[in-house]
Amino acid sequence: MSLFSRNDIENMLKSSHIGLWKLECEEGKQKRFYANDVMDALLGIDHEVTPEERTEFHISRVHPDDLELFGKYAEALTKGYAEIIYRYIHPTEGIQFVRCSGRIDTSVKEFVCIKGMHQDITQTIHLENEKVVEQRIHEAESLAQAANQLKDEYIERYLEERRDKFLYLYQSQHDMMTKTLRKDVFLEQAKIYLQEEKPQRVAVIFIDIDFFKEVNDVLGHVMGDKVIADIASIIRTSVANKDLICRYGGDEFCVLMKEIPKAKLLDKLEFLNGKFQLDYGNERGEQHVTCSMGAVHYDASQGPVDIVKLIECADVCLYKVKGSGRNQFCVSDYVKQ
Ligand code: GH3
Ligand code: MG
Repeated sequence: MSLFSRNDIENMLKSSHIGLWKLECEEGKQKRFYANDVMDALLGIDHEVTPEERTEFHISRVHPDDLELFGKYAEALTKGYAEIIYRYIHPTEGIQFVRCSGRIDTSVKEFVCIKGMHQDITQTIHLENEKVVEQRIHEAESLAQAANQLKDEYIERYLEERRDKFLYLYQSQHDMMTKTLRKDVFLEQAKIYLQEEKPQRVAVIFIDIDFFKEVNDVLGHVMGDKVIADIASIIRTSVANKDLICRYGGDEFCVLMKEIPKAKLLDKLEFLNGKFQLDYGNERGEQHVTCSMGAVHYDASQGPVDIVKLIECADVCLYKVKGSGRNQFCVSDYVKQ
């Protein structure tokens, strides 16, 4: 007894979109194309047709781009066995992908008789296409992710290099204990500023900590270092960002104030003197710390000036303050000699 009944087989063929056909090719006659119901439905034939009409109906609906391929397949069929996937233009469903195969029935001797199957695989092809598209999207996403990662790494490296260069430049230009410019850098930058920007008025303040040797002696050098750093911090937060500050010597600072009117300079000196009233103490003792300041104010009516001359003038003023009790300031107007 057979495992499947004829009915079972027909149902299976129907649900798999497989149609069965038979083609008879007889010398001098038109080809006769027979089909079961499923096959006719797959071809889109919903009315009675003769086998000859079916042949014409079928051929007329092979996609024009696949006609050549179909011709080769038909020729190969007459030699024994052939298989093809081609596009068929269904009258109502549109383009379908069809897998078709056939084999010669050698028991028929009068003419060439080929029997085969025709399966609609449009869904499978679409599924395959979707899979390919999904795969492509996945590949594109992975690529984009890798590119982003590369970009992030590149930016990070770039910023790191920038940071390193900036840090190196900063360290090479600054006294690290006070975070102020080194004397030679200050002199160079001040010189360029005065020569190139030709300011209308500037001021130079020379600041020296009073009796600093005593601070070191009484409180020790570690505390002495802290005092120097604190004085620098007060200066940095009291003057404009554009101004140049340098540690000129051990306990000396020099400030170039850009475009400052004389009245503002006096206010600033007053302000700084108020800030330079500091008290320090440790197990070794206590010290009140002050600073002396000498300043010079310059305006453009004096003609070009160089930074060394301005510092010299400020230094003379500082010397006067040191000579008259310290913890004060003295200002002079720059007069070209
Ligand atoms: P004056 O009021 O006349 O300025 O007296 P002074 O004692 O402050 O004299 P002076 O300015 O000449 O002395 C500066 C001292 O600063 C001398 C040096 O031992 C000390 N010094 C210089 N650099 C440093 C430093 O980096 N750390 C510490 N702790 N001391 C320093
Ligand atoms: Mg001093």
